[in-house]
Amino acid sequence: MYDWLVVGAGFAGAVVAERLATQRGESVLVIDRRDHVAGNAFDHLDAAGVMIHRYGPHIFHTSSDQVVAYLSQFTEWRDYEHRVLAHVDGQLLPIPINLDTINRLYGLSLDSAGMERFLAARREVPEHIETSEDVVVATVGRELYEKFFQGYTRKQWGLDPSQLSKGVTARIPTRTNRDDRYFTDSFQKMPAEGYTRMFERILDHPGITVRLGEDWAAQRQKGGFRRVVFTGPVDEYFDFRFGKLPYRSLRFQHVTEDRAWAQPVAVVNYPQTEDYTRVTEYKHMTGQAHPKTSLTYEYPTDAGDPYYPVPRPENEALYKRYKALAEATRDVWFCGRLATYRYYNMDQVTAQALTTFARIDAALGPRTAAGQRAQDKHHMVQEGAQQAGEPVPGPVRKSGSAGV
Ligand SMILES: Cc1cc2nc3c(=O)[nH]c(=O)nc-3n(C[C@H](O)[C@H](O)[C@H](O)COP(=O)(O)OP(=O)(O)OC[C@H]3O[C@@H](n4cnc5c(N)ncnc54)[C@H](O)[C@@H]3O)c2cc1C
Repeated sequence: MYDWLVVGAGFAGAVVAERLATQRGESVLVIDRRDHVAGNAFDHLDAAGVMIHRYGPHIFHTSSDQVVAYLSQFTEWRDYEHRVLAHVDGQLLPIPINLDTINRLYGLSLDSAGMERFLAARREVPEHIETSEDVVVATVGRELYEKFFQGYTRKQWGLDPSQLSKGVTARIPTRTNRDDRYFTDSFQKMPAEGYTRMFERILDHPGITVRLGEDWAAQRQKGGFRRVVFTGPVDEYFDFRFGKLPYRSLRFQHVTEDRAWAQPVAVVNYPQTEDYTRVTEYKHMTGQAHPKTSLTYEYPTDAGDPYYPVPRPENEALYKRYKALAEATRDVWFCGRLATYRYYNMDQVTAQALTTFARIDAALGPRTAAGQRAQDKHHMVQEGAQQAGEPVPGPVRKSGSAGV
C-alpha cells in the first residue's frame, strides 16, 4: 500500500512526488502511460546521437526565484537566450517584431521614434477589441498582421484570428529597439544535462517508485494507494461524463541532416505558405557539438496527444463543470496543465505543483502514526466511491489549480 499514487511523471507529477517523499516522508508510486519520465519536456539522444526534444522545443524561462531555487537542486544550467526568426517574403526576420524587422522588411533605416510613427500610421483600432485579429491589427496594422500572424494562427488553431477571442493574443509584444530575445524573463537557461536527467534526479528517492507504461485506468482497478495526485486530463478522470475537452495537437517530424548547422537560430517560424508552423534546430539550445544536426517540423492537427486547450468560452464553461467535480472529490488532488485545462509553461506548472504540495501539507497536517491509522480508516470507507471517481460528501478542498 503506497501513501500516494501520482499519475503522470511530467513537471506536475514529479515535483509533487518529490515533495511528498522528502518533506512528508511518505511513499509514492509514480506512474506514466508513456515509456519515459519528464512528460512533454522529455529529451533524448536520437539515432544520430543528437539531443532532441520529442515533443517540440522546450525553452526554460522564468522570473520566479522560488522556481529557480527549487529546480536548481536537481540540475546545473547553461546560458541560453531564445531567439526566433520568421520566414516572411523570402527573408528571415526577428520575431517579436522589432526595429530590425521593419527596417529589413521594407528596406528602411528608421530609428525608434521613426518606427513608432510607422506603426502609429498603420494601426487600425476598432471601436471594440473583441477578437485576436482586432488585437493585432490595433497594434501593428493589417499588413504586418497578414504577413506575421494571420497564417500562423490559422495553422496553429485551425481557426482564423477573427474567430478567436482577444485573450488568445492578449498582447502582441513589439519593440521599437533592436532587442531580438524572444523572452524577457530574468532567468533564461537550459538544464545543462537536459530535462530528462533533471527529472531522473527529482525522482531519485527511496520513497519514490516509478512505473512507466502504466495507465491510470488499470492502476485504479488494482488499487494499492491511499491518495492520488492526478496530472492527466481532468475529463478522462471523470470518464468524459460531460463530453471531451477539446485540444489542439501537433504532429512532430524529426529529421537529421548530414551537415553541422541548418538555420541561424533554434527556431524559425513559417507564417506564410508552408504546412508546418515552425522548425527547431536543437544544437543552438543544448550547445551540443556534433557533425550532424537534428530538426523538428511541427504540423498542427486536431487529432493526437492533447497539447493546447482550445481557448473558447464554451470550452472554459465545460472545464468549470469538471473543476467542480474535481474540487468535490476527496483524497484526489488535480494538478498540472491537463488536470486544470490551462496552457502553462514549465515554470508555472512547477510553481503550481509546489502550491499543490503546500495545500496537501496544510490539509493533512503532520504525519503521525496515530494520524495515519485514522486516515487509513477514513480512506477505506471512501474507497469505493473514489474508484468510481464520484464526489463524496465531506469538506470541499480546492484542487491545485491556483493561478500562479
Ligand atoms: C509543443 C510544446 C512546446 C512547449 N514549449 C515550452 C517552452 O518552450 N517553455 C515552457 O516553459 N513550456 C513549454 N511547453 C509547456 C510544457 O510542456 C508544460 O508546461 C509541461 O509539460 C507541463 O507539465 P505537466 O506535468 O503538467 O504535463 P505533462 O508534461 O504533459 O505531463 C503529464 C504526464 O501525464 C501522463 N498521463 C496523462 N494521463 C495519464 C494517464 N491516464 N495514466 C498515466 N499517465 C498519464 C502523460 O503521459 C504525461 O507524461 C510546451 C508545450 C508544448 C506542447
